[in-house]
Amino acid sequence: MTQKNNETFNKLDKKYYLQTFKRYPLTFDHGKGSHIWDVEGNEYIDMLGGIAVNSVGHCHPKVVKAIQDQAAKLIHISNFYLSEPQVMLSKKLVELSGLDRVFFANSGAESVEGAIKIARKYAHSIGRGGNIISFENSFHGRTLATIASGKKAYQKGFEPIPQGFSQVPFNNMEALEKAVDNNTAAIIIEPIQGEGGVNVADKTFLEALRAFCDEQRIVLIFDEIQCGIGRTGKMFAKEHFGVEPDIMTLAKALGSGVPIGAILSNEKVSSAIEFGDHGTTFGGNPLVCAASLATIEVIETENLMQEAEEKAKWIVAKISSFENPDIKEIRGKGLMIGVEFNFETKPLVLKMLEKGVLANATADTVLRLVPPLNISYEDLEKAMEILEKSLKELKDNG
Ligand SMILES: *Cc1c(COP(=O)(O)O)cnc(C)c1O
Repeated sequence: MTQKNNETFNKLDKKYYLQTFKRYPLTFDHGKGSHIWDVEGNEYIDMLGGIAVNSVGHCHPKVVKAIQDQAAKLIHISNFYLSEPQVMLSKKLVELSGLDRVFFANSGAESVEGAIKIARKYAHSIGRGGNIISFENSFHGRTLATIASGKKAYQKGFEPIPQGFSQVPFNNMEALEKAVDNNTAAIIIEPIQGEGGVNVADKTFLEALRAFCDEQRIVLIFDEIQCGIGRTGKMFAKEHFGVEPDIMTLAKALGSGVPIGAILSNEKVSSAIEFGDHGTTFGGNPLVCAASLATIEVIETENLMQEAEEKAKWIVAKISSFENPDIKEIRGKGLMIGVEFNFETKPLVLKMLEKGVLANATADTVLRLVPPLNISYEDLEKAMEILEKSLKELKDNG
């Protein structure tokens, strides 16, 4: 029997899969914790965690067991009925977030779409229009409404783009106040921008934003799809700022990789929703909710938020110790770290990959590190060694 190899799958992928991702030609086979192996048996340290999804590591035994047990019991019903995992996850997320109600979707973008619907329904109920303001360098997904709220490059070729969306600069109250009128329904913001290069909102800005939204009766939506669920050292990034949104979206780490998103909303906006206003077939089925409950339990019982904070300090100190003149800034919160260089980071990510570390280049010049929260210091040490070595080699090769 011939050995499986990366190239065989790469060829088939090129032939059959819609060519929208420029993929690294690696076919992964299995993972454990912060380690992942390709079909040829090569081992990698995962500093990307499926883009901030695998926060408790690959195949955490408690998550695997929860999925296996639930799969053998009941995978899907329909939202015409209740299931214990969904009811218990609803209770858990409402208690953790301080918001009042939850709705489950299947992805991040779908959660944002749902958040926009709730916000518009509420805005119309108080006589306002339905316009949505987002921020430059934000990312809220790839559906039509979410690309309307995002960068122009993602809209090109997909016109007509849904109306009612505009963007203002991040952390700029003056620009925001100018952009708002009676037709503004909601403002959506990532408290820490992910794809946009790990940009942290100013606390004073978020406080002013909250006060302004209260005064103007505008719905404030926090997109915590990437920064939520323990990633930044707190269950939700909003806790770093002491600012409460009216609506919050979650996805990525929420289910350790099973497709689940959530929209949390306070009673004020939730009360605008009437029977039949929104729906989903798969959203929040017993299987994904069981996976999510297990994921949150692991984050809490294994103190992963505290670990995230401590490891982040260690990583930042380590990278600072390189004293590399090409590093412009290291930023982020907890294990959501962006290292900005004065060059494009794609070649750096490729170099690291060749040496066995998965990471990500975002916003052109930023290296994004979002490893599992339970990654070992031994792995971090190795990953940082490889980062340092890769930087040296890039420099030597000009
Ligand atoms: C990833 C992401 C999304 C989109 O999530 P999908 O599951 O890919 O649709 C939305 N908002 C933020 C902040 C994200 O990081």
